[in-house]
Amino acid sequence: MRELRSITLYCSSSRSLDPHFAVAAREAGRLLARRGITLVYGGGGLGLMGEAARACHEAGGRVEGIITRKFVDLEQAWDGCDELVVVETMRERKRLLIERGDAFLVLPGGMGTFEEFFETLVGRQIGDHEKPIAVLDDHGYYLPLQSLIAHSIREKFVREAVREIVHFGEHLEPLVDWLEASVRAPIASDPNRFLPMHGSVADGARAPGATKG
Ligand code: AMP
Repeated sequence: MRELRSITLYCSSSRSLDPHFAVAAREAGRLLARRGITLVYGGGGLGLMGEAARACHEAGGRVEGIITRKFVDLEQAWDGCDELVVVETMRERKRLLIERGDAFLVLPGGMGTFEEFFETLVGRQIGDHEKPIAVLDDHGYYLPLQSLIAHSIREKFVREAVREIVHFGEHLEPLVDWLEASVRAPIASDPNRFLPMHGSVADGARAPGATKG
């Protein structure tokens, strides 16, 4: 049986946030430490990334950072990481972030976080990996994202089954519980269920090869 040993955390590098967002980031860091789960993240010392990493470390948890050479200065790479991997490209950074985490936790963030979330979700959808993704809807920040996903499902651009591989919630502990359960019993990759072009006529979409009429 697979175990949840590491979580890759995607979140903001912004220094201009309302301080209330830092509360959940620190709580996430401490929670992972408490549960003996390694925190894998982008390696920066700024924003929610820095808050989560420092809190995890202070609570006795293991922190692994993956950052590009260029961002070592820009994001003030955090020197408290148990392991800091410096790579050359953002692609390599994202590849390692996906590879090293047994599961993914998304906290509020900007374009970088959005990209990481969607790349990881699309990778899951097409079967590149079978790792679960949880999103913390802290202070309603991700309500628009949930609406967008619901809208895309309603309009048949996205399959309903996507709801099984990404989970939104307002509280950290149940999200991590869900990640743990999903790592132990992963939903098998099945293009017939996840990919848009395999939607059935009953779904409102045309099955591949189906004729008109
Ligand atoms: P943001 O949500 O924009 O504050 O960014 C969160 C993290 O994502 C930061 O560590 C960014 O450096 C990182 N990031 C932004 N764009 C990319 C990218 N194209 N590939 C990998 N990481 C990125």
